[in-house]
Amino acid sequence: MNQIITAQRNFFNSQATKNLHFRKAQLKTLQKALEQNEALLHEAIYKDFKKSEFDNYSTELSLLYKDIKEARSSIFQWASRKNVSTGILNFPASSYIIPEPLGVCLVIGAWNYPYQLSFAPVIAAIAAGNTVILKPSELPTNTAAAMAKIVKENFDPAFFTVVEGGVEETQELLKQKFDKIFFTGSTKVGKIVYKAAAENLTPVTLELGGKSPAIVTESCNLKVSVKRLVWGKFLNAGQTCIAPDYVLVHKSIEQQFLEQTKEEIISQYFSFENDNYVQIINDRNFERLSKMLVPEKIYYGGETNAETRYIQPTVMQNVTMEDAVMQEEIFGPILPVLTYETIEEAIAKVNSLPKPLSCYLFTKSSSIKKKILKEISFGGGAINETLMHLSNSNLPFGGVGRSGIGSYHGHTGFKTFTHYKSVMDKPTWLDPSIRYSPHTPFRLKLMRWFMKF
Ligand code: NAD
Repeated sequence: MNQIITAQRNFFNSQATKNLHFRKAQLKTLQKALEQNEALLHEAIYKDFKKSEFDNYSTELSLLYKDIKEARSSIFQWASRKNVSTGILNFPASSYIIPEPLGVCLVIGAWNYPYQLSFAPVIAAIAAGNTVILKPSELPTNTAAAMAKIVKENFDPAFFTVVEGGVEETQELLKQKFDKIFFTGSTKVGKIVYKAAAENLTPVTLELGGKSPAIVTESCNLKVSVKRLVWGKFLNAGQTCIAPDYVLVHKSIEQQFLEQTKEEIISQYFSFENDNYVQIINDRNFERLSKMLVPEKIYYGGETNAETRYIQPTVMQNVTMEDAVMQEEIFGPILPVLTYETIEEAIAKVNSLPKPLSCYLFTKSSSIKKKILKEISFGGGAINETLMHLSNSNLPFGGVGRSGIGSYHGHTGFKTFTHYKSVMDKPTWLDPSIRYSPHTPFRLKLMRWFMKF
């Protein structure tokens, strides 16, 4: 690891990555490498957890292609020096901000969208002019190997390389000095990364998880709301960091909501055969989720198969904040339904838990919209929609509080991997003596006057 990092540091110090044409070319290489290896990428992810070609394209590769396209076309604008005003105090100076790359970056990926969550930060890091070491999650072994192979075949490891491995390798990496660590994963491991980064005062971005609520008011369009909710919850079998974790529905429409949800789950027909459902990633998670299924609270679903790591889309009713399913992020295809009578009660329930990564609100009421947006703090979210805010790269993506530190996507991703160097540039033809000794009353008066501008 020492060798890789030294090689990357030398490469970074050669100034090669500061060239914007170089960055554009590297992004094009990545695009081509992904396109040419689509079959390999599809095969690997299907082997890992039965993710279909459709889902792999729509929720992983298409987003990466979009990111690359945007970065390539915006690099010159994003990386350009920005002039800012100086003020009379420093006349005749000029002031400007130079975006500069940070250096050698470590990107640690999560397993649930293995390609997207690994390569999206890499694209931002490359666009910003850094070198990158990517450590994908070890849980989906085939996708990790596919990414390592593609990167090895297409990139100089002194610029961009993949280190495969699990906890031990990640901890070894974390002992090294980086210029930036970008981590996606659980809050628990996020703390380990943050502590390790503190040793070297390395800046971090932590993309973590949490319990993201969906609030359904009595004024919503129930049919469309439930359709979008069911899609967002059971996509990837609920193994989505921004999936609605639990629903808070107004007591007056609880029954209608439950019936509509059941109907919608049946109609969207989530199954391996239908290529729109995936396995639970491993036995540990399968067991963890199975324990959350309390038979007397299951309204719909509840079927499991340990051999195929299958958990049926499941809806639980009469759930309280004390139930096991409300004690941790679910990260699986179980939807607990809780009720509320006043919007204040719903807000209090959400705010009794750590700040979530996402929040979804289904309503036609503009006053409720306003109230929720004002009184609940969350990373990002959507109104009358689920997940899709992630697809708009103009919206910074990240958590707040326990759901994360920092954000990325689009221009924000570029900024995340950039230091903005501030410079004042002053000629010598004028050098007013006001700040130099002797500090006479007249000079102080003059100083007071100048400071007004
Ligand atoms: P995880 O924290 O278990 O693993 C993430 C990475 O950390 C992996 O690469 C793994 O190898 C490494 N790791 C695991 N244990 C470690 C240890 N003890 N020391 C050092 N490194 C270690 O997370 P996961 O299971 O891959 O993902 C699930 C979690 O990630 C959920 O909480 C989910 O909400 C969150 N998540 C967040 C986002 C986001 O964008 N905010 C996206 C996906 C997942």
